[in-house]
Amino acid sequence: MTSELEIGLYIFMLAGFLGYHVIMRVPPLLHTPLMSATNAIAGISLVGSLVVAGGDYGVFSTVLGFIAVTCSSTNVVGGFLITDRMLKMFKTAKDQAGQRRRFQFNPKMLLALLVLVAGLLVIFYWSEQLRSDAIYFFREVLPTQALSYFYIISAALFILGLKGLSSPKHARRGMFLAEFGMLMAVVGTLFHHEIITFKWIIIGFIIGTVIGGIMGLRIPMTAVPQRTALSHSLGALAACLVGISEYFRHSGELSKVTMTALGFEVIVGGLTFTGSLMAAAKLQGLLPGHPITYKGQNIFNLSLLAVIVGSLIYLIVMPAAPTLFYVMVGLAFVFGFLLVIPIGAADMPVVIALLNSYGGLADAAMGFMLMNKIQIITGSLDGTSGFLLALLMCRAMNRSAINVLFGAFGKIEKAEAGPAAEAKGIVRSITSEEMAVVLDNIRSMIIVPGYGMAVAQAQHGVAELAKLLMKRGIDVKYAIHPVAGRMPGHMNVLLADAKVPYDQLYDMAQINPYFAQADMALVIGANDVTNPAAKSDKNSPLYGMPILEVERAKSIVVLKRSLAPGFSGVDNELYYDPKCMMLFGDAKESLNKLFAALKS
Ligand code: NAP
Repeated sequence: MTSELEIGLYIFMLAGFLGYHVIMRVPPLLHTPLMSATNAIAGISLVGSLVVAGGDYGVFSTVLGFIAVTCSSTNVVGGFLITDRMLKMFKTAKDQAGQRRRFQFNPKMLLALLVLVAGLLVIFYWSEQLRSDAIYFFREVLPTQALSYFYIISAALFILGLKGLSSPKHARRGMFLAEFGMLMAVVGTLFHHEIITFKWIIIGFIIGTVIGGIMGLRIPMTAVPQRTALSHSLGALAACLVGISEYFRHSGELSKVTMTALGFEVIVGGLTFTGSLMAAAKLQGLLPGHPITYKGQNIFNLSLLAVIVGSLIYLIVMPAAPTLFYVMVGLAFVFGFLLVIPIGAADMPVVIALLNSYGGLADAAMGFMLMNKIQIITGSLDGTSGFLLALLMCRAMNRSAINVLFGAFGKIEKAEAGPAAEAKGIVRSITSEEMAVVLDNIRSMIIVPGYGMAVAQAQHGVAELAKLLMKRGIDVKYAIHPVAGRMPGHMNVLLADAKVPYDQLYDMAQINPYFAQADMALVIGANDVTNPAAKSDKNSPLYGMPILEVERAKSIVVLKRSLAPGFSGVDNELYYDPKCMMLFGDAKESLNKLFAALKS
């Protein structure tokens, strides 16, 4: 007979395979909402936490369960709210003019689901009636059996939800299905026969809802990367705490399979917790963003990892060794911290995507430990999504996955800027007033936003300028590089926030053929993604990275503060091109001045 473990492994693999195909269809436009959506769905660790917080497992477990419920509900509420906030911003020009229907709650869909659930309950009732009385049935049988069917429906709704992200048109509807799936799973779990009190569940849920609500509704779009990192840390902490509680409850009396899953859960959960916290602190500027390195760092980290893995192997053989277990958990926390300190803030997006994947794996491990299939499915989906996004980022940056996975990232060697830069030639600058005159003579423009636009928070100014130019009959298009900014889909979200219709945004493959015909390429705080050395200089660290072919435009204007390099530390030869003019200064201030000049 097939064992529970085998079934779990099949489910894990199939969910990962399905997740791969669904997530590959999500366009780069929606990569940031994808990250927050999978983050919210991974909040399914809430179902495991509810049982620990409400069960009769002792004070220690109740406290851990309570913290886990708070963390998971923060993720669910915050994750779904910010995803919806982002998705609401993605509109076409028609939508903005109010010509297209908006997403509306569809009562028929909800009714159909309720009828389905009611139908299932009736079937259970009649099948069980034959051999048990109604009271026994309602108290013992119904909750357990109904729950497993609730979980199946929830899993299907999560997958449909992610599938909705394949187009901005259906994305909000898809997310509604995922939200409904989460509601079903959570409400169903509340009937779990081991839950004897709701006190700590309710308090944890209220606190989590308030924190998640604030994180989902109040955080500015420019702070989305650090919010995502913080959510990963909360989800991972929840998984880790549930694992610790289970170990404590069983006093180490665990089978080898359960101990393996539990060990994996607490190790990956622990290191993801501290690693993600570090990532959030670096991105928020609370910790220095530069890589912190010391001699023998890699050897030390690898030795620590070996000690952690060795402890787990010992525990699998001899599970009743509590001191070793708690030391192992402590070391996992330390390892997460050490893993992230040598990585610079600029490389954090790749780290965040990888930690997202680790968080998913910790959730799946929790699912194996509790033999809870919905957690195995969502953990696998989350793990696949994070891993895929990390790989897509690496590919777009022309960095190898091995380089990312096995360290040394964030320590990109800086190119020798000095003599090479001097040999490049003359840099021409332009003022906002002169630029206003130039704009009178152009008929088409391609706007190329980059990380500097996010730093300057210039997206609203950019959108206003584009509108003004369009009113003057100039054809304006936006060119979006897949890794412009510091997060997949970063520019899309910022421009959507500034109400730029997404049908005016062109991805790299679509826009590159247009550059040769454009009268002007207006580069706003972008650098690496426009560097022609990526095509021409075999010695450049950027060589091989696909770029926006700005240099083919008839004229180029770059808004940035200096000639300083971008993320890669490589000098940009575009700035020495005779067609290129530099409008030096903070992008927002330069745009304000340009606006004033255009109006006068
Ligand atoms: P970039 O190469 O990092 O360059 C950004 C430029 O913005 C800088 O050169 C900076 O020049 C300018 N800037 C900063 N603050 C500014 C302000 N207030 N006003 C005007 N300009 C300002 O950016 P990018 O072209 O967007 O390229 C993104 C880079 O990040 C790529 O190398 C990519 O591989 C990497 N990356 C991206 C992701 C992702 O998922 N998007 C993930 C990891 C890594 P000044 O200091 O002279 O102003």
